[in-house]
Amino acid sequence: MEQENQEINESISQENRKQHYKKPNSNYNSNSNKSPNIQSGNKNKNISKSSSRRRQSTPIDEKLKAFVELNQESHKQRLNPHYKLDLNSRDKIRITPLGGLGEIGGNITVFETQNEAILVDVGMSFPDEDMHGVDILIPDFSYIREIKDKIKAVIITHAHEDHIGAMPYLYKDMQFPIYGTPLPLAMIGNKFDEHHLKDCRQHFNPVEKRKIYKIGEDFEVEWMHMTHSIVDSSSLAITTSCGTVIHTGDFKIDHTPVDGYTADLHRLAHYGDRGVLCLLSDSTNSYNTNATPSELSVAPALDRVFAKAEGRVILSTFSSNIHRVYQAIQYGVKYGRKVCVIGRSMERNIEVAMQYDYIKLPKNIFVEPEQIASMNDKEILIVTTGSQGEPSSALFRMSIGEHRHVKIKPNDLIVLSSRPIPGNEGSISAMLNHLQRAGAKVTNEKDIHVSGHASIEEQKLMLRLVNPKFFLPIHGEYNHVMKHKETAMMCGVPERNIYIMNDGDTIEIAPKYMRKVKTVRTGKVYIDNQNNHKIDDDIVIDRQKLASDGIVVIVAQIDGQHSTMLSKPNVTSFGLVADKQDKYFAKEIEDVLEHFLINIKEGLIENPRALENDLRQVVRKHIYRKMKKYPLIVPHIFVM
Ligand SMILES: [Zn+2]
Repeated sequence: MEQENQEINESISQENRKQHYKKPNSNYNSNSNKSPNIQSGNKNKNISKSSSRRRQSTPIDEKLKAFVELNQESHKQRLNPHYKLDLNSRDKIRITPLGGLGEIGGNITVFETQNEAILVDVGMSFPDEDMHGVDILIPDFSYIREIKDKIKAVIITHAHEDHIGAMPYLYKDMQFPIYGTPLPLAMIGNKFDEHHLKDCRQHFNPVEKRKIYKIGEDFEVEWMHMTHSIVDSSSLAITTSCGTVIHTGDFKIDHTPVDGYTADLHRLAHYGDRGVLCLLSDSTNSYNTNATPSELSVAPALDRVFAKAEGRVILSTFSSNIHRVYQAIQYGVKYGRKVCVIGRSMERNIEVAMQYDYIKLPKNIFVEPEQIASMNDKEILIVTTGSQGEPSSALFRMSIGEHRHVKIKPNDLIVLSSRPIPGNEGSISAMLNHLQRAGAKVTNEKDIHVSGHASIEEQKLMLRLVNPKFFLPIHGEYNHVMKHKETAMMCGVPERNIYIMNDGDTIEIAPKYMRKVKTVRTGKVYIDNQNNHKIDDDIVIDRQKLASDGIVVIVAQIDGQHSTMLSKPNVTSFGLVADKQDKYFAKEIEDVLEHFLINIKEGLIENPRALENDLRQVVRKHIYRKMKKYPLIVPHIFVM
């Protein structure tokens, strides 16, 4: 094993060297191709001619040559700092994602030593369209329950829902100290309040970036400032006795962020120089070849929008994108508008951002929704939620004329400043139809939104800064992490030092090796947002059947002695046959039932549950044969 890992180390430095020296070599070759000597065709003569000429004209300065060697050695050391890891260490760390792989969202990862564990982020995700009545999905906490006594803390990278959204559901069950920067903690606090978990705020441990926090006996964690589509985001440096693991969180590299707080590349470089055991990095935008534009780049488009708007401007974006909202408000104010904030999450997020000085805005620029009606249209900017066409959002309700304070009118300009989340295109399009039917103009031009995630070039920068020995691409569907793997290989990480994880895979990493050691239970739990409660799996499965194939209810009275029907059975169906065919269908089922009773197995009539089960099977077969459908079948048999 030791030898093999020395080989890994060597191959890393060789690959790095190869990359580094490729260019000079190829230049040399292309020069020599142009050499007139080669074109003449006489090989021996040419070589002697050229070498004798070179000897005469350029004597080698041995001193320079020595420095070339010194610099080569310096490159080798710099590009392969992993020799600084303690290869004799018997310590290891285990990393288990319980969500966030094979999907976008639902991020939660366990880091474990022999005796202790920490969780990084506890996020939620959104359901598929066929999960009827399900509002959000949270991770299955079974594994966390299993290792509950080992867990020393929950570590938060940033305040997006897919990183903190499942916190209240976890804390209803189990509680641990929570470490994070102020904004994520403030937003988790709001969630706790909503879920009647006010007491859970006592677990907050706010942190200062660039400081190292000892957590339990085994972990040291540093939060490093990162740029992303929400303020106060962080990457993490998680150090245990076997080395440092860098977790990027969600990131992009914005050199001109709205608040001037650039990504802390210096700290990443600092760790990179010391030798990083493993990097876990955001794969969301693995395919984007163009660098992700700065948040500041939407400013000219916003300026243009307000300059040409003839009536009210109604701008919708993700409520968590504080800097987008801030920029929109600034341009609104520049063109003499007052700001009305509509939508619960938007109101709450702007309030928190102002309370904690992430943005500074004078209070007198804001107006209440009730005041809008009496104001001049050109003096109004409405900032609201609903850019994804969510039916419960303020903008959607405005679009169908059901909002209490805002009715859409001609001359309204609707600005959608966000990218459609895959799967939401249909509902966005429906909302756009409503808005335009009501006479509004809609703008959702590309330059009015920028992504919050790193493109390939920024992923490369991260890989080069951190220079990890092992690499685990995270945050993304399978094809995103696979693409990120390719990028990492281009940046000198050997293929065998990269692992493509699935949710539930436990990866063990030591300075000498990385391997998968087990798989733990993962999955999703369905949540109904109306009451914040769990919906059992079987309910969702029943709803799916109801939605796609309908339901048949059969009520019958049976003479137990003679196994015959005492009266005509009552057959009711929904979503299976047209109303006018109801009677015919009922007769068909009656025949099936009659036939079933004639051939009934001995003793079955005494066992009502088995009787109903068998009847269900027979009816199911019949309906499938005739209609190719599997409706829910509900038999009620009364044996007299
Ligand atoms: Zn995020």
